[in-house]
Amino acid sequence: MTASADPGRQGLMERLEAGPVLCAEGYLFELERRGYLQAGPFVPEVVLEHPEQVTAMHRDFVHAGSDVVEALTYYAHREKLRVVGKDDLLESINRQALTIARDVANEAGALLAGNVCNSNVYDPANPGTHTQTRGMFEEQVAWAAEEGVDFVIGETFRFAEEARIALDVIRRADLPAVITLAVGQTPKTREGWSLADACRRLADEGADVVGLNCIRGPATMLPLLPEVVAAVDVPVAALPVPYRTVPDQPTFQSLRDHDTAPVPNGRPFPTALDPFTCTRYEVAQFTVAAQAAGVRYFGLCCGAAPHHVRSMAEALGRTPQASRYSDDMSRHAFFGTAPGLATHNREYREQL
Ligand SMILES: [Zn+2]
Repeated sequence: MTASADPGRQGLMERLEAGPVLCAEGYLFELERRGYLQAGPFVPEVVLEHPEQVTAMHRDFVHAGSDVVEALTYYAHREKLRVVGKDDLLESINRQALTIARDVANEAGALLAGNVCNSNVYDPANPGTHTQTRGMFEEQVAWAAEEGVDFVIGETFRFAEEARIALDVIRRADLPAVITLAVGQTPKTREGWSLADACRRLADEGADVVGLNCIRGPATMLPLLPEVVAAVDVPVAALPVPYRTVPDQPTFQSLRDHDTAPVPNGRPFPTALDPFTCTRYEVAQFTVAAQAAGVRYFGLCCGAAPHHVRSMAEALGRTPQASRYSDDMSRHAFFGTAPGLATHNREYREQL
């Protein structure tokens, strides 16, 4: 059965009409930390080598409150697999990722999303790469359509024109499209469009949701959101990375640690970002602020873990299954206030 086979099931737009939608992302970083995926290439062969890990991670994110199971096809495109010498795995990785995601979406009643992303070949000055990019999107979107996805996410585009190609391919497949842009240190698209202009154009051309994902943390994505919300009539998406980016280091690639921190290649990105990780409370703070700014489609990108997703869900007023285990420090042996706790331990708390 495909994910959309149940006629009573609400689709993406119906869910967005009813309230915010939460989509957990950031699978590559989480699987890298768990020891099943290599940083650098960031290619999801894990769907073939350790499918049970991908299933478990999808389940963890749904348990934490994600409304969407997004197939792990990020970077499972022809160019990336060519670079790492695994072209022959292209179709099997895509189909397997979709099957794994579909099974979890079905068991959880979640939406199933396909995914295409930055091609790394698109070059505005070279029309041949536009055709090449389109071909890469077409094959991935066709596999997603065959699997019965509810919608396709086109994400992490630095070029608005590349995002437009993805949108056109998704629209031609007759599927809803969530299109999100990745914003570097300059708050414009790579060809120099304002984010408002880029998102307005994408919305005018039929994107169902537009917005921003990846690269920037909550503190440096939040200020960019009002201009996007004001520019479009469609729901706006915001999926920052959960890292403490700051105005003079607004992206997770530009973050620098203190001089003596042992980081490879002089930059914490991507494997030494741990000390910059946002707390769950910072994620909740962002969620509330982004919702107040008019955002309706929420999520977190590279670096997110289930506790971040749960915090986002709870900040949206939800109580996902994982909320059963949300903190209750009133029952802590030293810091607690609950009856029955030993007084001599509570009195010792400032000595801890
Ligand atoms: Zn990301």
